Amino acid sequence: SDDRVFNFAAGPATLPAHVIKKAQDELYEWRGSGMSVMEMSHRGKEFLSIIQKAESDLRTLLNIPEDYAVLFLQGGATTQFAAIPLNLCKPDDPVDYLVTGSWGDKAFKEAQKYCKPKVIWSGKSEKYTKIPSFDGLEQSPDAKYFHICANETIHGVEFKDYLTPRNGILIADMSSNFCSKPVDVTKFGLIYAGAQKNVGPCGVTIVIVRKGLIGNAQAITPVMLDYKTHVDNNSLYNTPPSFCIYMCGLVFEDLLAQGGLKEVEKKNKKKAELLYNAIDESNGFYRCPVDRSVRSLMNVPFTLERSDVEAEFIKEAAKEKMVQLKGHRSVGGMRASIYNAMPLAGVEKLVAFMKDFQARHT
Ligand code: PLP
Repeated sequence: SDDRVFNFAAGPATLPAHVIKKAQDELYEWRGSGMSVMEMSHRGKEFLSIIQKAESDLRTLLNIPEDYAVLFLQGGATTQFAAIPLNLCKPDDPVDYLVTGSWGDKAFKEAQKYCKPKVIWSGKSEKYTKIPSFDGLEQSPDAKYFHICANETIHGVEFKDYLTPRNGILIADMSSNFCSKPVDVTKFGLIYAGAQKNVGPCGVTIVIVRKGLIGNAQAITPVMLDYKTHVDNNSLYNTPPSFCIYMCGLVFEDLLAQGGLKEVEKKNKKKAELLYNAIDESNGFYRCPVDRSVRSLMNVPFTLERSDVEAEFIKEAAKEKMVQLKGHRSVGGMRASIYNAMPLAGVEKLVAFMKDFQARHT
């Protein structure tokens, strides 16, 4: 409705208005079941149909092969920072982390408790504005895996292609670019993503993992963090985040109806291009510090040459129903998150506002 704003938040983030409407229509009584999805037994046939459809639609969207498991888990992507080393290596095993922003750094720090991770490259000294060339990377000879954050939500740095590690498997945190473009799942041993940016509400985390890697968790692994628990029970070992899974299912249906991830990527590229062009063509009034070749299609950080009017920018934008444009507290400035569900009209409105604001402040 007209009351809805353009929400540029990094997550929880905007969802498609028509998907929320559909959920609203079904909230009180789901398709003849006599109850809301949130009241259903997770073992009943109605909910089983919901989770199975969500999984199969996601498999179609990402072309996920049969030898990969799809899991719907709780605890956020943050819990996966621990689950990954616990499941995939022993305490003395070396593993590699490529750190292109604060999320990769957090994942590395958590892994230190459960194995012997090494940062083989960090963008910290350059304020996380780059991704290195893969050629020059010195990987550890016996590394069990190679961890990357496919899109750094805070710094706006996104991998445009993926390396094949010299040793071990490739693992990616795709929390903030999940289902924003096609991905060759077979390049990865494991992909994980919190739902709350591109595909649903907070409360569910999706893990896509090659089945052959499962079943060797460290002895101390809590049962809830052992992937085997969830693979053996189709994500229904305990009570799952059922309403969240239902919402993700509605989003997957919508992405398929849009024509799949190639089409989604086209729209995302168009939105991002519009915004980056506005920044680059502002004669330095706005600036994006990120290396052009790795600028994120999802999270666009930018600063104002006149930092004294940043607060005014955010306030005025909010008055025009464009909210959550303040940058992360660790980097300052502005950040516009333009996930799948941000309409082109939202970015067009932001760009028009930016031009007008610039004209009034130069
Ligand atoms: N990884 C990335 C790239 C993120 O953007 C976030 C959250 O914003 C996380 C991990 C942490 O996710 P969660 O809050 O679901 O634990």
